[in-house]
Amino acid sequence: MRSFSYSRADSVDQALLGIAANGHGPAGTAAAVRFIAGGTNLLDLMKADVLRPSALVDINPLPLARIEDGPDGGLRLGALVTNADTAYDDRVQARYPLVSRAILAGASPQLRNMASNGGNLLQRTRCYYFYDTATPCNKRTPGSGCAALTGVNRIHAILGASEHCIAVHPSDFCVALAALDAVVQVRGSDGERSIPFADVHRLPGDTPHIDTCLNADEIITAIDLPRQGFARHFTYLKARDRTSYAFALVSAAVGLEIEAGTVRTARVALGGVAHKPWRDPAAEALLVGKPPTAETFAAVADVLLQGARGYGHNDFKIELARRVVVRALRDAAEREPS
Ligand code: SF4
Repeated sequence: MRSFSYSRADSVDQALLGIAANGHGPAGTAAAVRFIAGGTNLLDLMKADVLRPSALVDINPLPLARIEDGPDGGLRLGALVTNADTAYDDRVQARYPLVSRAILAGASPQLRNMASNGGNLLQRTRCYYFYDTATPCNKRTPGSGCAALTGVNRIHAILGASEHCIAVHPSDFCVALAALDAVVQVRGSDGERSIPFADVHRLPGDTPHIDTCLNADEIITAIDLPRQGFARHFTYLKARDRTSYAFALVSAAVGLEIEAGTVRTARVALGGVAHKPWRDPAAEALLVGKPPTAETFAAVADVLLQGARGYGHNDFKIELARRVVVRALRDAAEREPS
């Protein structure tokens, strides 16, 4: 059994002090002090001996569990609002149905009732080898190798991977947030900062043990959704092995603004294919100023999947992703608000 200290923080300042007092290490290391909210991923990682924090700081008492009006006509999702409360919030369902659909496509009702919005962003990959401490894994133990490269890699990345790691980010919520250009608010010992969603998660490169750009002494306080919610033409399409309680093999979050049969604004983000939600502005630009046609959708998929490669078991994902993109765009273009 591994021992660790446990404390509860009543304010963000107290939580940051708790981190500082316990001597946090760099992000991704096994010995660092950790914040705990829902614990739906952290406790699994501790039970599997993948993470061995010396201290847990319970942040559930912090006043970050509200959904309120955000800057510039948007909506601010508190970091401690549960995924379930976010998905079923009237304002989210009416103005950001893409967010609601993406959340409800993930996990199980029990997990969504516990998981926090901030924690969803920080969950770790579901690569089998990351959770198996008997195998080499650069993300778990930097420099040890990557068992997935030559192992069973059916669920692994086809875009943005490196020779050091081919893991994917598992979140559905994050794919919708990427498509919406959400902004993540964080606070740390050096003050507050706003991080565009595209910059929150990293590609693995030669440091796959670092998942995000957050410093170890920073805490997520909120996620800001911009005014444009694409509530009229949107879809979240998820291809997976089972119809519930399964991570995406490939998913697509699409938001379109269409006026008089012409696309004015387009967003397309892919999940299940890379170490972070995958977007390409060049692909989205192909749609703008044109009618939404099957030919354009196919061209968008070609650009999004430029450079895609498989590692054996996951080769099928390239064609699957192409089909998911085309169908998601078609569904979004045809969708009318219900
Ligand atoms: Fe570890 Fe990444 Fe390789 Fe999986 S893909 S074994 S997480 S290094």
